[in-house]
Amino acid sequence: MFTDIDGVIKNVEVPVSQLEKVMNNEMAFDGSSIDGFVEIDQSDMKLHPDLDTWLIFPWKLENGDGKIARFICDVHMPDGQPFAGDPRNNLKRVVKEMKEFGFTSFNLGPEPEFLLFKLDENGKPSKTLNDNGGYFDLAPTDLAENCRRDIVLELEALGFEIEASHHEVAPGQHEIDWKYADAVEACDNIQTFKLIVKTVARKHGLHATFMPKPIENISGSGMHFNMSLFNEEGNAFYDSESEDGLSGTAYQFIAGLLDHAQAYTAVCNPIVNSYKRLTPGYEAPVYVAWSGTNRTPLVRVPASRGNSTRVELRSVDPTANPYLALAVLLKAGLKGIGEAKSAPSPVNKNIYNMDQIERDENNIQSLPQNLYEAIESLKKDETIIDGLGEHIFERFVAAKSADWHNFTKAVTQWETDRYFELY
Ligand code: GLN
Ligand code: MG
Ligand code: MG
Ligand code: MG
Repeated sequence: MFTDIDGVIKNVEVPVSQLEKVMNNEMAFDGSSIDGFVEIDQSDMKLHPDLDTWLIFPWKLENGDGKIARFICDVHMPDGQPFAGDPRNNLKRVVKEMKEFGFTSFNLGPEPEFLLFKLDENGKPSKTLNDNGGYFDLAPTDLAENCRRDIVLELEALGFEIEASHHEVAPGQHEIDWKYADAVEACDNIQTFKLIVKTVARKHGLHATFMPKPIENISGSGMHFNMSLFNEEGNAFYDSESEDGLSGTAYQFIAGLLDHAQAYTAVCNPIVNSYKRLTPGYEAPVYVAWSGTNRTPLVRVPASRGNSTRVELRSVDPTANPYLALAVLLKAGLKGIGEAKSAPSPVNKNIYNMDQIERDENNIQSLPQNLYEAIESLKKDETIIDGLGEHIFERFVAAKSADWHNFTKAVTQWETDRYFELY
C-alpha cells in the first residue's frame, strides 16, 4: 500500500511466493499511471516496504482460509532515491527539519467522523441514512451500534488502542478515536482506519462515507487533529510553572497555525465539498481564532495538561491526505516557533454570533470560503509551499484547479430548483 496525492490508498497484491522480492525493494510499478506522480518517460518507480507496518488483516479469504497481509511502502525512484512526490516521504522530510529544532516527535491524535448510509438491493450506496440517532445516542436508535462495535473490535485486533467511539450529532454519523502516535505512524493509522471502516460497514450492508458534507442542513464530518510536540523532557506544550499550564512553545505553535491558516486550508480541506462543511452552525470552524473551551474557533486547547497537553485544529476533514496535512501543519507551527511569534488573545465567545463589525474589531479573519480562495492563498504562502515541496505543490494545485474549474461549469440541483421555473 501507498498513498497518492489525493490521499487515496493504492495497492498492488502479490502471492506469498513474491514476498522475498517485495522485502528486497524490488517491487516495481508504473508511476505515470498514478495521478500526480511522474510523467510517462520516467515511470519506473519502486516500492520500499516499511517493515514496521506489517499487518495481517483479520478477515478470511472468500474461497479458503488464507489471509491477506500488508506493508505500507515508500515510493522510490529507479535510482533508489526517495521520490519527492510521495506524501509519506515528504512528511518524513519535514519531520527531519523538526528534529533540528530539538523536538523528538510530533504526535497526532485524530478524531475522524463518518456517515453510514444503507446499501440498496444492488449493493450500491443509497442516500438513506442508517439511523436517526444523535450525539451519544444508544440503541435502539443507534442501529449502527453493532457495525461500529465490529469496526472497533477489528481495529483493536490490528493493534489500535481505541479510546472512544460514539454516535455523533447528525443521524447516521459516528466517530472513533484512538491513541495518538508519532507523525508518520499516525498517518498510516488513519489510512488503515478508513480501509477498515469501509470494509466492515459493507459487511453490515452499509456504506461509510468520509465526504465532509454529504447532506446539507445536518452536521458534516470533520477529522480534528490533536497535535503536540515532544522533546527529551516530554511534552513541549506543557509548562507546569505557567498560569494556564501552556508553554511559550505552545503559544508560538498556535501563532504559526493561525498565521498560515488561509494557505493550509487548501490541504486540510482539499475538495469542493469541504467548504460546504465550513459554514456556521454545525460546530465546524469558519473563523481564524483560538480558544480554550469554545468550539467555534479554528484552534482549541483542550483542558488536559501534562503529557496530554495538545492543540486541536478543528478545520481538518477526513478527505485531507493526512501525510500532506500533517507536513504543512508542522511547517506552520515550526515557523511560529522559529520566529517566536506571539499568539493573539483567545476568543472565548461564540464567534457564530458575532457580526462582521465585532469580528473586525477583534481582528478575526474568515477561512477561505471555497476551494478556489484556498488555492489562491496556498499559492502565496512560501512556508506552506515548502511544506509540500515543489513537486507535490505543483501537482496539487493543478489537480485542485481542474476540480474547481469543472465544478464551476456544473449546473447543480440547487440552481435548477431556484431558477428553472422562476425565470
Ligand atoms: N462534526 C463537527 C465538525 O464538522 C464536529 C463535532 C464535534 O466533534 N464536536 O467538525
Ligand atoms: Mg471528538
Ligand atoms: Mg466529533
Ligand atoms: Mg474534537
